[in-house]
Amino acid sequence: MRFSRLLVPTTKETPHDATLASHIYLIRGGFIQSVGGSGLYNFLPLGKRVLERVQRVVKEELDKAGCQEVSLSFVTPASLWKESGRYEKYGKELLRFKDRKENEFVLGPTHEEMMVNLVRQSVKSYKQLPLNLYQINLKFRDEIRPRFGLMRGREFLMKDGYSFHADECDMKREFDLMEETYKKIFNRLGLEFRVVEADSGAIGGSGSKEFMVLADSGEDTIVVCDACEYGANIEAAVRKEKPCEAEAPEALFAKFYTPNTMTIEDLAKFFRVDPYYLVKTVAKKALYDEGRSQIVLFALRGSDELQEVKACNAVNANELVDVTEEELAEIGLVAGYMGPTVVPEGVRVVLDNNLKEATSMICGANETDYHLVGNSFKGVDADYKDLVAVQEGDLCSCCGAPLRYTKGIEAGHIFQLGTRYSEPLGCTFLDENGKAQPMVMGTYGIGVSRLIAAIIEQNHDDKGCIWTRESAPFDLHIMVSNIKDEAQMALGEKLYETMLDKGIDVLFDDRKDRFGAKMKDYELIGIPYSIVIGKKLADGLVEFVTRDGMIKEEIAAEEILSLVE
Ligand code: ATP
Ligand code: MG
Ligand code: MG
Ligand code: MG
Repeated sequence: MRFSRLLVPTTKETPHDATLASHIYLIRGGFIQSVGGSGLYNFLPLGKRVLERVQRVVKEELDKAGCQEVSLSFVTPASLWKESGRYEKYGKELLRFKDRKENEFVLGPTHEEMMVNLVRQSVKSYKQLPLNLYQINLKFRDEIRPRFGLMRGREFLMKDGYSFHADECDMKREFDLMEETYKKIFNRLGLEFRVVEADSGAIGGSGSKEFMVLADSGEDTIVVCDACEYGANIEAAVRKEKPCEAEAPEALFAKFYTPNTMTIEDLAKFFRVDPYYLVKTVAKKALYDEGRSQIVLFALRGSDELQEVKACNAVNANELVDVTEEELAEIGLVAGYMGPTVVPEGVRVVLDNNLKEATSMICGANETDYHLVGNSFKGVDADYKDLVAVQEGDLCSCCGAPLRYTKGIEAGHIFQLGTRYSEPLGCTFLDENGKAQPMVMGTYGIGVSRLIAAIIEQNHDDKGCIWTRESAPFDLHIMVSNIKDEAQMALGEKLYETMLDKGIDVLFDDRKDRFGAKMKDYELIGIPYSIVIGKKLADGLVEFVTRDGMIKEEIAAEEILSLVE
């Protein structure tokens, strides 16, 4: 491709809403374009190329693992979501709408229902199982706070795969195969990542693992062990020792019996957990008890840095966002400690005014862990084993080495679903004895567009992007410093044409611009290698530039020609 023909609207301006390097450079480098600043993006030619390269890696590895690609309708009949019971529960991230005949639809935020519907119509016998079907397709989630560019869009590209099995054992085999396949994909893309134990959230199911691309800008806190492979999202982390072996401080213990004087912060101290973590867990519990997947809000009070109103939602209790009083009123359900001034009229507080309930929720489930037998309120059957946040330095449950906190970007998520969808949707097969059984399922997602942002979060410098080999929009960049110089241009053309013939994807900067401007664009766009043809050609030399580190080597033009000819 000739740069002079390519639409790459690079700019020096940092978009006003951008804080992450990936967001800034993908816009400034002319890869993507924001559509009205609302989590919607257009992919320009360079961005589309990156997307295709990443998709190719994903597709190649999945196909090798025996998965089959399909493409499902993005618009999904609401009836399917009603059948699974998720229509009411999914909350506002699910965009619902009606057509002219008043038929109800949703824009698929994930496609379990659709895929189950496809399979229940076409698979009848155990002989047709197992089956792993995937698509790389648009998703829409009406995220409360779309932000960070491609990282958290509302419309985004996901690879979503679903596997169907005759029994649990076969599903687990496939789950392991997908874990290995995902590792290959992330390795090929040149990413540093950890596979961590995860919470299954609103999708449901049991075993679940997340693929976390390591980056300080990641929204997830993960707990990792450097001595073994153990890693977990903080929400699912476990440690070797019981956390509260030390006696709780007397004063706190006394307070514990005096509801209304105990804040979430006190409780957090009592349990030696992070207050955010505590409230999130309590909020989640309230959500499920209330049978809602709507956003639950809570506020933390008690110290300067905690005077905030935050929201989390059931689909991602991980994400905390600030909310306005209007939003609070609209949602109408509050969990956690609230000062009276921030609760608008009509909002129901499920935990604050009734801290007894809050504590019972927590203690009820942890009575043995916390030696509170006989003191808690009975009848709470929730499993709060994971309630206590693992702290840095706690010991790994696998090998006993100290655990460490780090930040990650959730780029993939695999679940063992079981029969969570096949049962309500009647997706059954006839087993060897001719008996109808629900299929056992797994589900596997990769945030393809988010991966692009993740690659840049891990690979950039203060000048711009540094694409990894398999994600780069072009393999090589050739720049002619002065296009009026006939010898420079002739060599550029020759290299360009020869490389094209060899099947090398090359971007040829044949623009009239100044050398400095072209170099700045090269640095911003971040193609891994460049051949710069400049003044030194008079001595038979060109410059070979490695973008990572901007390492420049002089080499003989002849040598380059002989390499490609
Ligand atoms: P998050 O916790 O970041 O909200 P999620 O757990 O809701 O993500 P999943 O339902 O597990 O997401 O979806 C599978 C994958 O889709 C995620 O691992 C992530 O890579 C990607 N993804 C989810 N939401 C978004 C989004 N708003 N924008 C871009 N990619 C997303
Ligand atoms: Mg998540
Ligand atoms: Mg989410
Ligand atoms: Mg997830």
